[in-house]
Amino acid sequence: MTTWVELEKFQPVAVKMINNSITRQRIAHAYLFHGPPGTGKQEASLLFAMRYFCENKDEHSSEPCHECVSCKRIQSGNHPDLHWIEPDGQSIKKDQIEYLQKEFTYTGLESNQKFYVVKQAEKMTVNAANRLLKFLEEPSQDTVAVLITEHSGQMLDTIVSRCQRIQFHTLSGEHLYQQLLDQGLAESTAKLFSSMKMDVNQAVEWNEDDWFAEARKIVIQLMDKVMNSNEEGYLYLHQVYLKHFQGRESLEFGLELLLIWFQDIISLHLDKQDSVVLIDQMERLEQFHYIVSLSEAKTLIYEVLYTKRRLAQNVHPTLAMENLILQLQR
Ligand SMILES: [Zn+2]
Repeated sequence: MTTWVELEKFQPVAVKMINNSITRQRIAHAYLFHGPPGTGKQEASLLFAMRYFCENKDEHSSEPCHECVSCKRIQSGNHPDLHWIEPDGQSIKKDQIEYLQKEFTYTGLESNQKFYVVKQAEKMTVNAANRLLKFLEEPSQDTVAVLITEHSGQMLDTIVSRCQRIQFHTLSGEHLYQQLLDQGLAESTAKLFSSMKMDVNQAVEWNEDDWFAEARKIVIQLMDKVMNSNEEGYLYLHQVYLKHFQGRESLEFGLELLLIWFQDIISLHLDKQDSVVLIDQMERLEQFHYIVSLSEAKTLIYEVLYTKRRLAQNVHPTLAMENLILQLQR
């Protein structure tokens, strides 16, 4: 678990703003944490909530104690007065906001303090957003809302204007890489996750997940097969790849890995060995870069990006991936 002091090293402005509102006892009813992925928005929400409920707060410090029952419950994800809302499928629906409000009305009898975090807040439907807006307009005394988004431009102005806006800036890849090493990730994994700008907490979670290790292997295998023969690539796609990468998020992740693969090949063509991400695949990449020319690699990156867009437009994953394999085949 991070502390404000640690978070401040890479998000000085955002952390200062939040900490000021805590120590000056000017906590707003609603905040909008906005900025690119992997910039600490979620960590900041968690620390903020911990400090809010902490039973040993020090008035002059914004740090939670990390040790009391409340802090511990928040760390383990089961504090009754801290609610997380995230998209149910493609969007955050009105029901979810209504449910939250009901929850608050019932449990409000026991304690007054409530804290809720809306992740991917731009995914609220118009109905959900309007419902939330009403909620924000009549704030009960001790309720804090944190809305998190990577796309503040997609949010209703009426909501944005009711929040105190806190901007989180892109981390340098180097900084993220260091943080991941500090968390005990292997160099090759830290390199990969930092190049993906993954959230530190998420990276740690994924690192412990066998699905991820397998995913990495499968993408590399797919490249081997595709380069070997058309048949093999196609078979592997159906027999292994599509069985492992199910659902949009995991398919996107697979495509991210493919992008990195081709970027690495480009790096080798440009003699930028230091920029290679898949450092433990160096030998294989070297071989590939003799087969795939620089301009081919660029075209293939374009094809992968095109597939990403098609998935986002809800083209059937099997179709989109089959089409990609056709383009990758040589
Ligand atoms: Zn505490």
